[in-house]
Parts: sequence; C-alpha cells; structure tokens
Amino acid sequence: MSKKIQSALISVYYKDGLEPLVRLLHQNDVKLYSTGGTQTFIENLGIPVTPAEELTGYPSIFGGRVKTLHPAIMGGILYRRDDEGDVEQAKQYNIPAIDMVVVDLYPFEETVASGASEEDIIEKIDIGGISLIRATAKNFKDTLIVSSRSQYATVVELLSAKGAATDLEDRRYYAGQAFGVSSHYDGAINSFFLGRKDDSLHDFTSLPAQTLRYGENPHQSATYYGDLEGIFDKLHGKELSYNNLVDVDACVNLIDEFASGDPTFAIIKHTNACGIATAATAKEAYDNALACDPVSAFGGVVITNSTVDLATAEELNKLFMEILIAPAYDEEALTLLKSKKNRILLKRNAVELPGIMFKTILNGVLAQDKDLSTEVASQFTTVTEKAPSEAELKALEFALKVCKHTKSNTIVLARENQLLASGTGQTSRVDALRQAIDKAKAFGFDLQGAVMASDAFFPFADCVEIAHEAGITAVVQPGGSIRDKDSVEYCNANGVAMVTTGIRHFKH
Ligand code: 5GP
Repeated sequence: MSKKIQSALISVYYKDGLEPLVRLLHQNDVKLYSTGGTQTFIENLGIPVTPAEELTGYPSIFGGRVKTLHPAIMGGILYRRDDEGDVEQAKQYNIPAIDMVVVDLYPFEETVASGASEEDIIEKIDIGGISLIRATAKNFKDTLIVSSRSQYATVVELLSAKGAATDLEDRRYYAGQAFGVSSHYDGAINSFFLGRKDDSLHDFTSLPAQTLRYGENPHQSATYYGDLEGIFDKLHGKELSYNNLVDVDACVNLIDEFASGDPTFAIIKHTNACGIATAATAKEAYDNALACDPVSAFGGVVITNSTVDLATAEELNKLFMEILIAPAYDEEALTLLKSKKNRILLKRNAVELPGIMFKTILNGVLAQDKDLSTEVASQFTTVTEKAPSEAELKALEFALKVCKHTKSNTIVLARENQLLASGTGQTSRVDALRQAIDKAKAFGFDLQGAVMASDAFFPFADCVEIAHEAGITAVVQPGGSIRDKDSVEYCNANGVAMVTTGIRHFKH
C-alpha cells in the first residue's frame, strides 16, 4: 500500500550528502525531527526542525549515550498504525507517529582502523542509532528506514518519483538492507572484542559473489565470495574453476615462503607440491621442479616468484598445465604461452591477503589464523651430537617450508633448493615416509645426504630408522613426543643430525 511520509526523524553522524534528502522531505511537507548535531545542520539549511528533546523531555545525556532511547521516539516508530489498541495508546501517551527514520551510525570500524584507544572505540558503539534502525525496519509495514549514507541517492530518487510516498515493497526492501547494516555493524563489534582481524571476511556474503561453473564435482554448485581482480590479472584462458581456485590458493601460500629469494618454481596438484625448486635462473628452477615428479606435474598448477622469460616459457610450453601464475612475463614468453587455448595465465599483483581461514563444520564455522610461522636455521635447536652442515641446514629450511604447505601427515625429503619427494595426507607418518622414499627412487633420486622434514613429532624411532636406511643424514621436526629420546638415541648411534623447532605444522 502506498503511504505518504508525514514525519521523519533524522540522526546522522556524517552530514555530507544529506542536504538533498532533507530538502526533498521539506518540499513535501514532511515534519522533521532531529538530534543535536543533525538538528543544527538542518537549521543551517534554513529548514524547520523539531529537536528530539521536545519529544522526549530529556536533553542528550551521558555524553550523547542517550539521545533517542525513549518511548516517545521508539513508540512513535513502532506502534502499529492498523491496530486500534496501539493507536489508542499512542494518543494516550501523546506519542506522535514517526514514519521515516534516517540514520548514519557512529563510525565504529573507522575508529578501530584509526588505532584509537579502547575507550574511544567503545564510545563509538552506536546504541540509539542501531535501535532506531532495528525498530523502523521491524515496523516496515508503516515506516521507512534509511540506514546508511550510501542509500541517500537512491532514496531521493524513489521519493522524488513518488511524491514522498512509498509502497510496502519499498519499505520491505529498505528494512532488509537495514538488518544487513545492523548485522554488519554488530559483526564488526564482535570481531573487535574477539581480537579478530580481516573483518570483511566475517561477513563474506557482503563480498562480491561469483558463481562458479560447479563445485569440487560437477553435481555440486558453488560460489566464490571475494574479488580476484585485485590479486590477479587474467592474461589468457577460461574462467577459474572451484578446484583451480583451491590450487591457486595453495600455490600462492607456498610461493610466498620464497618471496624474496632466487627464482623458484612450484608445481601443485590437489593442493600439494609435486615439484618445487629454487635456482640461479627461472629455467633451471622450473626444470628442477619438474624433474621431481614429471608424472604428477601433468595438469598441475604452476607458480613462480620470478619473471617468466622465453627460455623458461619454451620448457613450460611442453607441459600440459591448467594454470601458470607469475608476477611478470616477458613479451615473447607470453606470446608463446598464449598459443595453447585452454591454459590460464595469471599475473599476480602485490596484494596483501587476509591472515585468516574458515571451514564449515557440523552446524558452524571454524575460523583460525593462517599458519604464518616459518622457522629458519637460527631458530633450530640441535638435539643430536652431530649438528647439520651448512648445506644440510639450507636443505632443512627448504624442506620445512614445503612441509608446512603439504597435507598432513607428511614427510618431505629434499636437498638444498629442491624437493625430492613427499608423502602426503597419510594416516601414519611411517606411511608418509615410505611413500616419499618410493617416489624419490621411482624418479631416480639418490637419497644419500638428503634431508627430511616432518610436520609433527615422531611418536617412535621407526621414521628415523627408515630414513637413515634410505640415506637421509639430517632431520627437522617439531619435537615434543614423550619418546623423542628414542629417535635422538637412534640418530646419535647412526650419525644422523636432528634439529627441532618447537612448532607443529599440521595442515588438514
Ligand atoms: P547528532 O550529530 O545528530 O547529535 O548525532 C547523530 C548520531 O547519534 C547518529 O550517528 C545516531 O546513530 C546517533 N544516535 C542517535 N540517538 C542515539 C542514542 O540515543 N544513543 C547513542 N549512543 N547514539 C545515538
């Protein structure tokens, strides 16, 4: 039902952009009510306005904490216009109808972002404004809520077209928007109290949504919430699929471990690295990464931290790969790589990514910080009589970086600057080790002098026994098992060096 607005309460924090709306309401004979600062703003426009105090009989008290929280205002918004009892009570208590409310809340998120003190932040928790929004939205059958500055322009358009009247569907639409605003606002407050960062992700439905062709399998529908455009420039190829996105994320997390070093190439399959190497040139890094497991590399997602030059592109062009991600491409390299239609080529931009991750489980969502801990040689504790050599320390650092980004349980075998093999996502650490050894042998690697990284501690000495027999000479692991001693004793008896980090890197 179309309803002409007779009265409106305006209470906004930022006054910019408000003038056209106020003028329009005034031109349409809408009676205006307002709070302190907003009232002054309207008066300065030469437009008559009644202070909220006149309705409540109270001034703004407690430093502005209580301005509009009063039955005369909340009642004027909430009473049902088609309910005789409500109308009667409104009359009895002398509560005038308020048909429209315009609110711009205290800038809570902005205050948090500015690094203000906790005291200042708490004062920026809007109480009356949020109550006005919720009350007006609840009574949308009778009232119109404008809950954000971003709505002024569309509301002006709507009210100009309809002579300051609205239809039920208009009011319902703005009520829905209003509960979105209040939910986002409370979400930000909740995040602040929980000490959470990256608040935008906590309200992921407000992010741009991109429907994907399907999910992990063709019978599953899927959506990506987020904006990929800032992170990547797509230079060539089709849309990214759900599985592509998952692998791209794994690639990015892994390569960022090697952000500042020599050229590094990684090849990812189902989120695990099946090849990764660092070398003096991009081509050598790619060749060494591919050599690790050329069978798994088929159909993989490839990432590098360096510019792709023509020499490297010529090698890459021989591989059937889904996606290549690089910070830059030489022109001839790009032309060559574009020759295959279905290959996706992404240029990665330097954009900081959120430090948080989510997973739905049972009837809820798990949120946790990303695993951003990377232990380097200076943080290793040698627990064996023999300490690792310089070369072994470098190899251990390399192995540990890869290990962190491989599915648990995992064992990573490496030498300086090259992954040799890994065991991924096994139900026992021994199985992971056996898988890694078998793979390394299958692709012709001699494990003599290679190193081993484990994502979690060794519950028994069996892993170091098997590793030593295969030729491994140095080991990195978190430590912390009640039987650490057994592994250490075995290493001491067999000339193996072991370091611990104290940091576990499960990845499930
Ligand atoms: P003004 O500048 O008009 O004095 O204040 C406008 C701001 O006050 C708006 O951001 C509005 O959401 C907020 N506000 C309105 N009523 C109340 C109230 O009763 N308590 C608090 N804390 N804020 C209010």
